[in-house]
Amino acid sequence: MSSPLGLVILGRQGSGKGTQAVRLAERFGVVHISTGDMLRAAVNEGTELGLAAKALMDAGELVGDEIMNGIVAERLAKPDVVAGGYLLDGFPRTEAQAKAFNEFAGASFDLALNLDVPVAEVTRRMLDRGRDDDTAEAIARRLELYEAETAPLLALFASEDKLAVVDGLGSPDEVFDRLVAAVESR
Ligand code: AMP
Repeated sequence: MSSPLGLVILGRQGSGKGTQAVRLAERFGVVHISTGDMLRAAVNEGTELGLAAKALMDAGELVGDEIMNGIVAERLAKPDVVAGGYLLDGFPRTEAQAKAFNEFAGASFDLALNLDVPVAEVTRRMLDRGRDDDTAEAIARRLELYEAETAPLLALFASEDKLAVVDGLGSPDEVFDRLVAAVESR
């Protein structure tokens, strides 16, 4: 019996990562786990986590590693994920998260997909989508943090031979086909 698929999707905010992640998870029958969606749900429900996360999210800052590691470790241990596999969207985002991820999920992890879209293009797209936390300042800060905190993970995954870089420019269908091909040829 082959073990379920464990995938991570990386990409700058505004790369189309969230939309592609939903389609990809459906295509491969794995559970889509978006840490941004989980945090937004917590904010809407007014939970303790939501209250703590809201100001950071609005400012484009990152929520603390320990909180994020706890949330994701807990989610990955649920039966639907254990049985069906996962596509992580928005995590890991820092080296500390990648290290923790390797400890609690290293054995189940198969491939990281980097959806590559240049900074100028993602900035244009994010200003267009007009989400609540998409102020110009927050967008700039998220991009800065992506380069500083998340981009180094690409080298890490590459060194484990678990990175596929996918060109994120083009129509959503073209990009989706590239992502599917990258997973299938892993
Ligand atoms: P996203 O929907 O992935 O763009 O996430 C929205 C916001 O949630 C981010 O700007 C962060 O404030 C927070 N967030 C989501 N995932 C993480 C993570 N893995 N680590 C830290 N903060 C996160």
